[in-house]
This record gives sequence, C-alpha cells and structure tokens, in this order.
Amino acid sequence: MSSEGNTEYSASAMLHLFCCICNSIFLPDAPPEADPVATPCGHVYHRDCIERVIQSDVHSQPQCHVCAAPLPAAEELLKLFIAFEESDYDKKIKDAVHEATSYGDRSLDAAAAEAECRDKIRVLQSEQEYNVTMLASLETEWSAIEKMNLAAQQRMKDLEGDLADAERQIKELEEQMRAA
Ligand SMILES: [Zn+2]
Ligand SMILES: [Zn+2]
Repeated sequence: MSSEGNTEYSASAMLHLFCCICNSIFLPDAPPEADPVATPCGHVYHRDCIERVIQSDVHSQPQCHVCAAPLPAAEELLKLFIAFEESDYDKKIKDAVHEATSYGDRSLDAAAAEAECRDKIRVLQSEQEYNVTMLASLETEWSAIEKMNLAAQQRMKDLEGDLADAERQIKELEEQMRAA
C-alpha cells in the first residue's frame, strides 16, 4: 500500500462526505452542533441540519430527507467520528519532514560535536605533552637541587669539622699561654 494511494483514497472519501440536507462537507474542526450524525436508516447529516427537520415536524412523523424512513428523537441520532485522513496524512508528512530536518540538524550537530571533541583531544594531548616535558625538567631540576642539598650538607659537616679543629687549636693555645 503506497502513501500515494492513501492520499487518493482519502481525497475521494472526503469528496463524498456531504451532509444530505445542506450538501456541504464535514469539517474536522466543526463545533458540536455541526457533528456528523447518522440516522437508523444510515443517512448522514450535520446534527443541526437533521435536528431542524426533527423539530420542525413535531406534529407528524419526521422523515429522512433521502429515503423517507422515520427519524428517531434527536438524542437517538448516532454521532459519527470521522478520521480526517487527508489532514492526518498532511500531519504525518509534516512530522516526517520535521523529523528528517531535525535529524539532519542532529547529524550536523553530531559532526560539529565530533570536530569539537577532536579539537579538545588535540589540546589535551598537547597539554599532556607539555606536562610530560615540564615533569621531566622539574625532575631534572629537583635532582640538581637534591645534589646541591647533599653538597651543602657535606660542606656544613666540613665546616663543623673545621670549627671543631679551630676550637681545639684555641684550647691548646690557651693551655700553652697558661703554662708560659
Ligand atoms: Zn448539513
Ligand atoms: Zn434515510
């Protein structure tokens, strides 16, 4: 079943849905008084069109405008629910177009998002490379500082030794002066 066949079918169905009294078509957004209603004999009218007939014939038996079958009381008319296929079809087309368009937008968005992600990854990668380089140079610097620190500690020990020697020499000199 092609959608084209559907359109043709609903278009021809629409053409035949006329009120048997006023000969105008039934509209999807009509007020309740213009609802399509069916009589027990099966003929279809606007509710207000057929109710006018029923109410105007209060003194005799009201008859169907088409086949002259007796009409029921207004509350016994059968309300019809017509599927307005053409407008439904149009709506489906609009939805499909909208979906296709927004899907297209989503594709574009996805491509843009992917490009954006790739850029971010590139930035992160170069940041990572920079960080690795920075880390290596910091490690080098740190080991240099550690070496300097060790050297300074050694120098401090040497100086302490020198100081102890000097103190010893001073004591010896003092003893020699006292002995003299
Ligand atoms: Zn009518
Ligand atoms: Zn009839």
